[in-house]
Amino acid sequence: MNKSDAERVASLLQSIGYKATKTIDQADLIILVTCSVRQSAEDRVYGLMRQIKKLKAHNPQLKIVLTGCMALRKESIKRLKDIDVFLNIKDLPGLPKLLNKKSEQDKIETYFSIKPQYESSFTAYVPIMTGCNNYCSYCVVPYVRGREESRSPQEIISEVKGLIKNGYKEIFLLGQNVNSYSPKLKIQSSESIKDFPDLLEQIAKLTGKFWIRFLTSHPKDLSDKLIKVITKYDKITEYINLPIQSGDDQILKKMNRGYTVAHYKNLIKKIRQQIPNAAISTDIIVGFPGETKEQFKNTCKLFEEIKFDMAYINQYSPRQETVAARLKDNVSKAEKKRRDKVLTVILSKTALANNQKLVGETLEVLVDAKKSEYWLGKTRTFKVVKFKSNKDLLGKFVKIKIARAESFGLWGNLV
Ligand code: SAH
Ligand code: SF4
Repeated sequence: MNKSDAERVASLLQSIGYKATKTIDQADLIILVTCSVRQSAEDRVYGLMRQIKKLKAHNPQLKIVLTGCMALRKESIKRLKDIDVFLNIKDLPGLPKLLNKKSEQDKIETYFSIKPQYESSFTAYVPIMTGCNNYCSYCVVPYVRGREESRSPQEIISEVKGLIKNGYKEIFLLGQNVNSYSPKLKIQSSESIKDFPDLLEQIAKLTGKFWIRFLTSHPKDLSDKLIKVITKYDKITEYINLPIQSGDDQILKKMNRGYTVAHYKNLIKKIRQQIPNAAISTDIIVGFPGETKEQFKNTCKLFEEIKFDMAYINQYSPRQETVAARLKDNVSKAEKKRRDKVLTVILSKTALANNQKLVGETLEVLVDAKKSEYWLGKTRTFKVVKFKSNKDLLGKFVKIKIARAESFGLWGNLV
């Protein structure tokens, strides 16, 4: 989401005459696109501000703008005394005025109508909605990003069409909960896009060779219709990020997640029956207030059972605005770290076993980086593949025969 915000910030600045510098110390203007989901993300900004303060001492003209979630938290605003402008990202079209610059973009009315300056020439992030209505008890997002708002399907499809025309190969549709996408319909017809599966289907029908990915799916809203659409279109990749957060029903209730472990397992069963080669990743919070060792063990059991391909494991971090912040953060830092490690060990084992099944197979890979003598790419299932080649393959689809598996990567040879 922040990458996507930054791409719109970059294009707006370019339109009023700014150019990107190679290093931060050459800049006349620094824009920080921030995240508040955990304290550690905010701490990185506080750390960076110490460096920026020194730059400001040498260059009094230097302007600092802070946007993203921290711009909307009273606590951060109070602490960040050296910021010149706090900008709600929704008010991005007004930035030129705040910088005393005249802009062509004065005519631009909304954030979404700013055309992004995509960082990559083959991967693009396309937000389909903003905000969130779920109020999970630990989460700051609804407080800083506001209520859920769905972007119009016409606007999304026209952005995607433009991307495809320009040769983009991988399109990420973004939302905190893509499965609750519900655009306001001007005219109701049988052709109308009413929900997320409809939107996916319309995008998948566009001509061209590209992959569609999407983030994030909330287990309470992932529908049978979505699973069907994934199976129906080759362009929709079979990678599903389905955050469970905890493998214990009582903790899930305290988190206000709105589903049970049984519901989640049933979903996974349906996905695996209908999309046999799907890769599934999850998000987890360890050390939620009051999480006992027994309750944590239920998360371990779930990990053993589901055999995730990937998991983003987070140590609980209290966020002032939230309901959970009123509960005692009584799991020690050391214990959170231990639980994080225990889950990582199980994950490494299950991910390795899943990857080993791919040895000998030939997979389609989108090449997205080069590190020393190896090309890196991703499979449809979002697994990292490394291989050697003398050709320039960046941004291209290739076929790779998998030779060796690791927990979080595959090695292979170009076919
Ligand atoms: N909308 C997505 C996730 C958004 S935040 C969803 O519902 O799954 C990304 C991840 O950050 C969450 O999945 C959660 O695991 C983690 N997270 C959010 N708030 C947190 C907190 N207070 N402490 C630790 N991790 C947190
Ligand atoms: Fe936060 Fe829950 Fe919304 Fe995800 S669904 S952004 S975790 S409140």
